[in-house]
Amino acid sequence: MDRIVIAGGGLAATRTCEQLRSKGYAGELIMLGSERYAPYDRPPLTKAVLAGEHDTTLRTDFDALSVDVRLGTSATGLDPQARIVQTTGGELAYDALVIATGAFPARLPGSGRQFTVRTCEDAAALRAELRPGRRVVLAGASWISAEIATAALKQGCSVTCVEQGRAPFELALGSEIAELLRPWWSEVDLRLGVEVEEITEHGVHLLGGEHLDADVVVTGIGVRPESSWLEGSGVALERGVLVDEHLRTSQPGVHALGDVAARWSPRWNARLRVEHWDDARAAAETVAGTVLAGPSEELPVHDPVPYFWSDQFGHKLQYVGHHTPTDTVLVRGDDTEKWAAAWLDTDGKLTAHLSIDQPRRMIEARKAIDAGTVPDGIPIDSTIIR
Ligand code: FAD
Repeated sequence: MDRIVIAGGGLAATRTCEQLRSKGYAGELIMLGSERYAPYDRPPLTKAVLAGEHDTTLRTDFDALSVDVRLGTSATGLDPQARIVQTTGGELAYDALVIATGAFPARLPGSGRQFTVRTCEDAAALRAELRPGRRVVLAGASWISAEIATAALKQGCSVTCVEQGRAPFELALGSEIAELLRPWWSEVDLRLGVEVEEITEHGVHLLGGEHLDADVVVTGIGVRPESSWLEGSGVALERGVLVDEHLRTSQPGVHALGDVAARWSPRWNARLRVEHWDDARAAAETVAGTVLAGPSEELPVHDPVPYFWSDQFGHKLQYVGHHTPTDTVLVRGDDTEKWAAAWLDTDGKLTAHLSIDQPRRMIEARKAIDAGTVPDGIPIDSTIIR
């Protein structure tokens, strides 16, 4: 193998470069990144960066790794038969291609200014707007909105959040757990069960006619995979780049990982698009192993227990696993500040766990889910809520 091209300049791409070199790949390695900045970490953008920190650059020495990093260069098309990727800087032949182009934020209709936070430029622009007395309207009560609300309240802004569901995180965590998290939003004017019609010059126009005046509108309604450049290439796409558990796409020599990938999970018998930092980081080892594997070698598998965290309203929330609506939910904890929730499937196996300000419980739960453990009895401090 003489040349590996990585399309994408974020966490997954960076960790893939490191893993390829650490597994002994000595050939040419080219990384294409649309942004003008060296790869950086995104989770701090709605946490430390909104609070004033500036630099979240990943500490990777690309020169030492002999990576030809082409910033400001986008992959624009692919011919997998000819093994050529088209880019804004011309065509590039490859022996193996790794797709790590991430995701982009969904936007709402309307001609008014709406902030989204995906890049360091987005975060810097929003930070400059969060000043005492400003009226901030958040569209969507998402994980990112909760973190932005936290920062905006700290800066002395008034915060309104409009959400079409009945509670923040209802879809992700179920209505019972969502109700337990709702008090955290007490300083936010939370408008539930309402839909945005459009973002206007002066704020947010709701379906039904109401208009909310705002100085700053932030849209946090989820992300979409950055895969449009692959349309028509023959790489199978379905809400992301479809990959198997070895992170191979439908086309030989083409692999994908991170937020852009919709991977098959034998563990959950489901296709997952895990938009979490930890998944993008961990998948790099598997993709490098798969790319470099010889024809008779066993391929590595990427199928970890998913994990993400969020820092919001003064709490660290950590979720591990993958639950379904048919699971039973237990709430553990005898005070309202530090509690945890556990989901069990119909066989009594732990499928997911949410902990609040208790990292140790998250680690134990992750091990238990990984091992397929059936907890011996319900912990004494638990309440079954469904
Ligand atoms: P990305 O980080 O999106 O990197 C993709 C890169 O590829 C980008 O630089 C993009 O510009 C570039 N690119 C796109 N298209 C092309 C192209 N055609 N050619 C070349 N380059 C291209 N996860 C958690 O678990 N916990 C958190 O608390 C958390 N907080 C977050 C907060 C924010 C504000 C954001 C945005 C994300 C957060 N995440 C969090 C998610 C986490 O950051 C992502 O899961 C992770 O960044 C995914 O890495 P990636 O490399 O797949 O994609």
